[in-house]
Amino acid sequence: MSKGLAVEKQASGPANFQLVTSLLDALDRPLVVSDRSGQILFANLHAHDAFAAAGFGQKSDLNLFQDLLRADRKTILAQLQAGEHEVDLQPDLVGGKFRARIRWLPEPDWLAVFVEPARPEPPAEEAQMRQTVQELMQEREITYRNLLAAYLRLQEANRQKTVFLASAAHELKTPLAVMKGYYELLLSGSLGKVSEKQKEILQESKESCDRLVRLVSMFLNYSALESGKLVLQLHDNDLRDCVNDLAARWKDPFQRAAVHLDIRIAEDLPIFKFDYQKVQQCMVNLVDNALKHTPAAGRVTLAAQPHFWERRCSGAAPPEDRRRGGPPRANSVLVCVSDTGTGIAAEFHQEIFEEFVRVDPSSSGMGLGLAITKRLIQAHRGKVWVDSELGRGSAFSFLLPTYVE
Ligand code: ADP
Repeated sequence: MSKGLAVEKQASGPANFQLVTSLLDALDRPLVVSDRSGQILFANLHAHDAFAAAGFGQKSDLNLFQDLLRADRKTILAQLQAGEHEVDLQPDLVGGKFRARIRWLPEPDWLAVFVEPARPEPPAEEAQMRQTVQELMQEREITYRNLLAAYLRLQEANRQKTVFLASAAHELKTPLAVMKGYYELLLSGSLGKVSEKQKEILQESKESCDRLVRLVSMFLNYSALESGKLVLQLHDNDLRDCVNDLAARWKDPFQRAAVHLDIRIAEDLPIFKFDYQKVQQCMVNLVDNALKHTPAAGRVTLAAQPHFWERRCSGAAPPEDRRRGGPPRANSVLVCVSDTGTGIAAEFHQEIFEEFVRVDPSSSGMGLGLAITKRLIQAHRGKVWVDSELGRGSAFSFLLPTYVE
């Protein structure tokens, strides 16, 4: 191998060749140029020193791929021809680890190889730390996956529990309806005369039965909401019928508890689309709660009136109404159930609308009534809220839009 032989042949003159050689010798690292077969055409001073140190001495037929890089020629050429800017190798040469960066010079079809010492291994401490961090990250990933699997299992168990309870609740419906029917038959006297005392007992049993029916239907509604199976039956309905029907059914329990039930329905309530059963269930939940928490001689008021709901519908309000300064046209119905009962401290006003939350655990109930009410009202695109103060009674209100957007 003669130093700079090929370059000499290609350079335009000896002066130019000398200049190029000295410039390449001035590089601070070995540089080797070969043709595509691996025959070395040029090596700078540093490269010659490195060859000597590696024990190649004055060998003239060194091959780039076989002797120096010890790598497959075809693979490297293929990588370069596939468009890779540079192929990076770490050949094990005498004297330690090296890094060889191979570039293709297309015009003469040569390969230029820059050799430099491989980056030093990180100190043992750093390597240890890296390994620890890697292990921690692996552990975290495993924990995360386990947690996710456990969460999914719990979710499935919860779903199965809800399905099981819902089917059990469903099975209770028929016997309860039969019992209720018999109580009514006995109370009507058509099966024989009943004494006042018997009547009282039968009436109380019927009311307990009614309460069980309400609990079962509340739970069925809850499980339907949970499983996303709730479908609203939206028809043009009259809220007056809904309220009057409810008032008739609740007359007796109110009388027995010596609580006055006051019904106030505005004359101009519109007919609008809502699910009769579901909205009645919401009102029943609120009236039932009001009665439960109002002592004898107290009062429960159920009021319904047209309302202009500014926040939702300001865009829909006819602008001329505002300009004339008259009251804006109602776009919803406001229903309010207020009582003179125990009241609720402000810190519970939000929580009571969550599932299974009960402020007073000694009172009967599952803590589901308000949660279901909220979801049913929201399904109607309405909203529900409470105003209350401890010892000063409560007012539960909900808004139902009266138009379809
Ligand atoms: P529950 O079926 O237990 O009554 P709800 O979801 O209907 O469940 O109500 C949640 C809690 O809110 C009740 O346990 C009760 O403490 C409180 N609450 C609801 N309505 C009233 C009311 N009108 N007056 C006082 N407390 C009430």
